[in-house]
Amino acid sequence: MPGIDTDLLVIGAGMAGLTAAARAVAGGRSVVVVEKSATIGGSAQFAGYAWTAPSHEVMEEVNPNGDPALRRALVDRFADGIAWIRSLGIECADAVTVLRYGTGHQFDTNGYIDECRRRIRDHGGELYMSAETLSLLTQDGGVIGARVRLATGEECEIRSHATILATGGFQASPELSGEHIHPAATEMQLRSNPTSAGDGLRLAEAVGAASGTDRSGFYGHLIPTGVRFRDTADFVALSLYYSEHALLFNLDNRRFTDETVGDHLTTMDLLEQPESRGLLVADARVYREWITGSYVEGAAALDKFDLAQRRGGRCGIAENLDEFAYLPEEWGYDGAAIADQIRALDAAGPDSQPPRRYDSQALDEGPYYIVEACPALTFPFHGIRIDEHGGVLNAKGDTISGLFAAGSDTGGLYNRAYTGGIAPALVFGLAAADRAVADLTPPVSTC
Ligand SMILES: Cc1cc2nc3c(=O)[nH]c(=O)nc-3n(C[C@H](O)[C@H](O)[C@H](O)COP(=O)(O)OP(=O)(O)OC[C@H]3O[C@@H](n4cnc5c(N)ncnc54)[C@H](O)[C@@H]3O)c2cc1C
Repeated sequence: MPGIDTDLLVIGAGMAGLTAAARAVAGGRSVVVVEKSATIGGSAQFAGYAWTAPSHEVMEEVNPNGDPALRRALVDRFADGIAWIRSLGIECADAVTVLRYGTGHQFDTNGYIDECRRRIRDHGGELYMSAETLSLLTQDGGVIGARVRLATGEECEIRSHATILATGGFQASPELSGEHIHPAATEMQLRSNPTSAGDGLRLAEAVGAASGTDRSGFYGHLIPTGVRFRDTADFVALSLYYSEHALLFNLDNRRFTDETVGDHLTTMDLLEQPESRGLLVADARVYREWITGSYVEGAAALDKFDLAQRRGGRCGIAENLDEFAYLPEEWGYDGAAIADQIRALDAAGPDSQPPRRYDSQALDEGPYYIVEACPALTFPFHGIRIDEHGGVLNAKGDTISGLFAAGSDTGGLYNRAYTGGIAPALVFGLAAADRAVADLTPPVSTC
């Protein structure tokens, strides 16, 4: 079997993998990147902001059950990550608030992806597209590369000093989603690249890696029920980010969560409700201020209600609360009961139950904009356990020699909470690259 020797093998050419590979070649290391699909960039192609919690206090407040070492590393090294992006000549805009509690920078993710590829190639790195990683190679309990089937069908052994898993999570595997997120997760529409199907997790577990945390949730957003994504632009266009200013009722005609904490958190809660669907109600004020407004400073505004309606979602406009009685019966809600609750909530203000911590304004201005919503899945929070350098851990909590992971393949950082997907891919991609080849001098060249 033909073989290749390299300092660093990176499996997955998305945000984490390309970051790691570009960093390693910048340090004079030889790198081989193996990508499963015919294109690079993964879900990072669709992202626009690198952001996270601005301080340890905020991280602790919004993500109290995440791994403390990973949380700390993410906050501490985020600024270095932004400096790294800028060092490649990619502009990062000034900091803006993201999702109420985060801080981040808009940047050209596709420009960054292209620049990483250019640097990898210019430094003699190899990028194998449409390649399948069959197994990791091991020796004395450590990882020494991988067996890969190239696009030509040829199998080859890539022997490496270190290997970084960066395949982007398991959201494209209904089986793994059902097992680790929630049984109902198998039904969610995929709001990400289609190739992240848990290969990194399976490869890591086959060599003794620990994974976790089960039921720690996922990143995703509410979308209109019954509307299929037609293309990747729909991932953002159909996301009902404004739900944090609206009210969400389940099939029992009850609110079940504090919607104001954020659409991405409400999304996790809705998954666990009956049939994973609910009625999202906004009034004329919310429509004006939030449905047709911009979600994050710098992002384009789009009338999501209008789009949901045009695309055949379950939508309706009620001129006043009395008209809720005429909700289509086949939707399964009791409109009059929901209208009564809206009246009661408007009267309760900040004392609403569940509370509406960050926006307790009344929804008392007709007309009302009603959309039935369900969760869509971007990536899971369950994954390969790592230390703060990206080193993969076994069940005893020891690192597995030669094996690293970064980005959405990893778990433990978030537990029913979220402070960005690009930021951990960036921070732990850099950390893994630095640690993976730290003990290697002088650089070894490709054979
Ligand atoms: C619509 C959308 C908008 C988003 N916006 C933001 C945002 O503004 N800010 C933010 O922080 N996050 C955002 N995210 C999330 C962010 O894109 C991800 O968290 C980030 O890209 C994760 O990086 P990654 O390298 O782990 O995975 P990815 O970037 O998805 O890359 C994984 C790569 O691995 C490849 N792969 C899979 N299996 C294999 C295999 N067996 N062998 C080789 N390669 C494999 C995939 O094809 C892919 O190229 C968004 C996501 C989506 C879908």
